[in-house]
Amino acid sequence: MHRLPIKRRSLKGRPKLCPKCFNKLTRFGNLSGWMLPDEYVCESCGYHGHVAIEPAVEANKEAKES
Ligand SMILES: [Zn+2]
Repeated sequence: MHRLPIKRRSLKGRPKLCPKCFNKLTRFGNLSGWMLPDEYVCESCGYHGHVAIEPAVEANKEAKES
């Protein structure tokens, strides 16, 4: 029943990584289908799909910004 400071300012704009080659993915913008889930494209290996690796957030706990 206690509140946790869940709100983080860095939730959006975090880079997604390619599940194949771990390079940075490019977001594939759907021009008319913005109700669909995001699609990502890897320019390095040609992968494209909905699966993207998000960098671990837990490591951020160590960094104190105060
Ligand atoms: Zn790739």
